[in-house]
Amino acid sequence: MEYFPLFLNLKKKRILIIGGGEVAKRKVFLLLRSGALIQIIAKNICMDLNKLVLQKKIEWISTIFHEKHLKKVFLVISATNDKVLNSKISNLSTKNFLFVNIVDDKSKCSFIFPSIIDRNPVIISLTSSGYSPVLLKLIREKIESIIPFQIGKVVNFAKKWREKIKFYFKKTYLVRIFWEKVFNSIFLNQILIGQQERAFITFKDIIKKSKCQTGEIFIVGSGPGDPGLLTLRALQVIQQADIVLYDSLVGYQVLELARRDSKKFCVGKRYLGKNFSQKKINDLLIKFASKGNKVVRLKGGDPFIFGRGGEELEKIVSSKIPFQIIPGITAAVGIAAYTGIPLTHRKFSKGVIFIHGNDYDRNIFSFLKSKNIAYTIVIYMVKMNALNISNDLIKKKISLDIPVAIISQGTTSYQTVKISCIKNFPDFCSSIHTPILLIVGDVVNFYRKCNWFNLNMSNKIFKKNNSYFSLFYRS
Ligand code: SAH
Repeated sequence: MEYFPLFLNLKKKRILIIGGGEVAKRKVFLLLRSGALIQIIAKNICMDLNKLVLQKKIEWISTIFHEKHLKKVFLVISATNDKVLNSKISNLSTKNFLFVNIVDDKSKCSFIFPSIIDRNPVIISLTSSGYSPVLLKLIREKIESIIPFQIGKVVNFAKKWREKIKFYFKKTYLVRIFWEKVFNSIFLNQILIGQQERAFITFKDIIKKSKCQTGEIFIVGSGPGDPGLLTLRALQVIQQADIVLYDSLVGYQVLELARRDSKKFCVGKRYLGKNFSQKKINDLLIKFASKGNKVVRLKGGDPFIFGRGGEELEKIVSSKIPFQIIPGITAAVGIAAYTGIPLTHRKFSKGVIFIHGNDYDRNIFSFLKSKNIAYTIVIYMVKMNALNISNDLIKKKISLDIPVAIISQGTTSYQTVKISCIKNFPDFCSSIHTPILLIVGDVVNFYRKCNWFNLNMSNKIFKKNNSYFSLFYRS
């Protein structure tokens, strides 16, 4: 961060401004809004500043700057054209541990002025660190357009009720849930259009209903790795969550989308030696939700494809806690797209079968090719059992020519794809990073001509042991 944003309480704090022209005037008018005590040093001052001096709103203390003027001031601002004087002011202020701003000379400033959107008491401060004022102006316009002018009224209402609500609900998370409900209801609109009485009725109604607050559980699929594959619904839900219980397959970029104050727990089955049994995960879900929290159970891919979503759902249903299920793009579907391998094709594959690499019926392999029918088989969780899978395929007399794609860390910038055959693919599986997916069937031949993602990955890092999932995933 080039500059750290702070909000200063300048009431009755002395601020020294050197310069008496138009630039100094703009700073004075801005700073007067904060209740600061302003002192001016300048040979001459403009008419507007002179008026303020006569009205005793600011003080004109000297015509010449001297180091002694820096005593007992809080901030220093130099708005003169004199470069030598500006340097002197910057150096002396720094020596005296004062924050200093030299207008239009960033190199001599210890703080800069942000662009301000003032909807007091809501104040938004923006900066491009001085690099792109035009872009900043566009951003500002966007933000201004979504923040109603009357938003201050809403905050003042909240200010009046803040302590009472705290006292009434006692627990912090209940207080937060309550206010979220209020601001997401028609209350907001009622206040904004001046219907104070109606707003108050809505407010009281929400208080009454919130006392018997129950939480909610969302079982959410986060897709195979690329955060861009998250659904809009998943994003909304993740951003509202109080608690996120996530699997090892969920990437940090997705987790970063959650609210900063939400609590995030990795409950991956093999996370840093900890072992979270399915029972423990179910218990945690119900425990957190029973306390009134919005709990997101975040899973890699889709929750209902080898994700134990069904088992968790049964427990949730029996607990009677409200729930929702948000689907995600399963690894097979995401990876098929990111490798250019169509899972079905009118000429080469009549359908697709997803199987578990450690637990499958060997007869399923007959679907790969029997007379005129061919299917694609996608195998999840292959690493530990690759050799047995290969032997089973050979025993089933599946043609040795059928191509196999071995995809590691699919859809992420670390995606690697190897094309092999039924006999040789186990060798590749042992040498690449998990998670790994196998696609078996003639459609794999499309990879050579239709692959696009690996060609586009300019940011791919060819470092051994560098793994997108390595922070989370153990297998
Ligand atoms: N619910 C998940 C699957 C969880 S099982 C889904 O719908 O995708 C975990 C297995 O999924 C891994 O062993 C691997 O076979 C596969 N997998 C998940 N993400 C993957 C990825 N980005 N690249 C390759 N395989 C992946």
